[in-house]
Amino acid sequence: MPASDQDSDFDIPSRPERAWRPETELVHAGTLRSPFGETSEALFLTQGFVYGTAEECEARFAGPDGGFLYSRFSNPTVAMFEARMAAYEGAEAARATASGMAAVTAALVGPVKAGDHVVAAKALFGSCRWVIEDYLPRFGVSSTLVDGCDLDQWRDAVRPNTKLFFLESPTNPTLEVIDIAAVAGIAHAAGAVLVVDNVFATALWQSPLTLGADCVVYSATKHIDGQGRCMGGIILASEKFIQDHVHMLLRQTGPCLSPFNAWVMLKGLETLSLRIERQTATAAAVADALAGHPKIARLVYPGRSDHPQAAVVRKQMRGGSTLVAFDVAGGKAASFRFMNALRLAKITNNLGDSKSLVTHPAITTHQRLSAAERAELGIGDGLIRFSAGLEHQDDVVADLLEALKAV
Ligand SMILES: *Cc1c(COP(=O)(O)O)cnc(C)c1O
Repeated sequence: MPASDQDSDFDIPSRPERAWRPETELVHAGTLRSPFGETSEALFLTQGFVYGTAEECEARFAGPDGGFLYSRFSNPTVAMFEARMAAYEGAEAARATASGMAAVTAALVGPVKAGDHVVAAKALFGSCRWVIEDYLPRFGVSSTLVDGCDLDQWRDAVRPNTKLFFLESPTNPTLEVIDIAAVAGIAHAAGAVLVVDNVFATALWQSPLTLGADCVVYSATKHIDGQGRCMGGIILASEKFIQDHVHMLLRQTGPCLSPFNAWVMLKGLETLSLRIERQTATAAAVADALAGHPKIARLVYPGRSDHPQAAVVRKQMRGGSTLVAFDVAGGKAASFRFMNALRLAKITNNLGDSKSLVTHPAITTHQRLSAAERAELGIGDGLIRFSAGLEHQDDVVADLLEALKAV
């Protein structure tokens, strides 16, 4: 392919098309075809791009013609992933990152400067909490952590210098559900932006931008890859939010997504809705089989009517979750016996895989917190977070019930 043909052969989509239903966008949106006319998305494993002439090179650098310069800034395979995610989420713009934490960090750091204040729900993924509590203060950004389900705490935490609100919903690992529209209202009244980590809900079941959030972040490592292979992340927002807060930060500091990982993510997106629907059905079956079981002390599942925020779930989510949280009666020893007796579900700290997984948050993702902090978040020593895989639902339920007999 002559390099000089690149501009005419590539139709680079700068804005998401919302021409089709989300499932259709997941298969087609953002596809860039090379002159070979390949059916599937090409893997552009290249660092740089060549220019036919010095004039073309000058023009590419000077003007926003949309052409590619360097894969730290942008790459055709990565651009396809970004455009497809933007179309699916209904966002104006998207930027892919090397991991979910790179996405969260850029979305948290980008909008603030020294002297600003951040309010966040305290039930957070461990690394997100570290960025807010341990890292931002080094640069003079203070924070207040609140109980995300208590709207008065969000209101009371606002200070004149509050610039950013951050939350995850459902929360990790206890699957509490925070009223995103209400928190967005409080943030905007305070002149702050709301960033939502939507990993636990997935884009299939919850659209934070529609609920009033200014920015959505995902760890693509989870359901988007969906088969436990590649790390990745993505930030979705208005073009203005991306330009004002994220674009230069990512370009100049370099947490870019590998084109290979973007290619794997694109493959994952084609089956995202099928997988999430199936995994949600399995999680719901697990929740129903385990709720009320004599060896389960407490179970939280956003699809059940006994969920503590069932009314908020109905209002803002289109489906339950692929995750279930439950306390094995008898604490740490009992939960260890349960995990060790599982034959199918694997012991890990990850989620959103095709393999069913169990995580013991107190010894893994939330091990850094003190026992008192964990207790405050409802993370007991017997708590298990279950992530439904793609195995047959009956096998998964049987595995869990059988393992409970060992408790
Ligand atoms: C996994 C996860 C992250 C971090 O993503 P990585 O891809 O591991 O960097 C952030 N937030 C939530 C809710 C997660 O589950």
